[in-house]
Amino acid sequence: HHHIHYVGRFAPSPTGDLHFGSLVAALASYLEARRHHGDWLIRIEDLDPPRVVSGSAERIVTDLARFGMTSDRPIVFQSERFAAYAEAIQSLLANGLAYWCGCSRRDLNADGSYPGTCANGLPPGRKPRAVRLRVPAERVRFVDRIQGPVSCDLSVAGDFVIRRADGLAAYQLAVALDDAFQGITDVVRGADLLDSTARQIHVLSCLGLPAPDYAHVPVVMGADGGKLSKSTASDPVRSGEEIHALRAALEFLGHPPPLVDFESTWAWALENWTIKQVPARPPGPTGLWGADG
Ligand code: GLU
Repeated sequence: HHHIHYVGRFAPSPTGDLHFGSLVAALASYLEARRHHGDWLIRIEDLDPPRVVSGSAERIVTDLARFGMTSDRPIVFQSERFAAYAEAIQSLLANGLAYWCGCSRRDLNADGSYPGTCANGLPPGRKPRAVRLRVPAERVRFVDRIQGPVSCDLSVAGDFVIRRADGLAAYQLAVALDDAFQGITDVVRGADLLDSTARQIHVLSCLGLPAPDYAHVPVVMGADGGKLSKSTASDPVRSGEEIHALRAALEFLGHPPPLVDFESTWAWALENWTIKQVPARPPGPTGLWGADG
């Protein structure tokens, strides 16, 4: 479906500094938003306080700004959204789409899938710990704008956690809800998150909210996996070296730029960006996963 006003976003977790892989995702989402004359938002996913590295949210925002990427609206922090997550979890519990689960890690199947133990009520003697969302029997299907048709059978891994035993909202719930809350029409992000997409679409459908369109860019591989040299991949966003990182990111995304300065490279990118040109797989050996018709 096509949208009247495009809203894209970059949603980093402040668990470390901006690295080349996150620059690639930020750049792709930014250029695609600009291409559609849309808005581009930064959302800081500080959902999980123990994992937050202090100061990294500020550094990520500053680093993005050095590359010329700033949020078109005030930055939303997930840590300010806990009440909204709790409300969504309550409503899913109230309408029976979710249920309390008393299982711990050792109650899972050997492959980590959930056997459905608490799906019809807590077994006697079990205390409620987490909340799980029931998964659909049919496959979740969507057409990724880079990866093509994708389908996922959520029943393989089973009903998934939307409220963790420590009381925090799970990532899948928070991201889906925030994308809807912020009116995100298009998610452009790394293909490492492709497995999450079916769950997020399911969360949105359970909440009666529209799902955005998705485009998953190839994942930047480790130094030995891809074309990028170790120095480029590991520390490209250093201050003073923006032009090298920008060029490398554009090249990785299938848009090798002419050899010009930083400003002209940006102008070229804005002029020439087209998502059709982004490869589905990283240059180099193998992707992380397979698409599915
Ligand atoms: N916060 C997630 C991460 O940094 C990305 C979420 C998203 O783009 O949907 O891995």
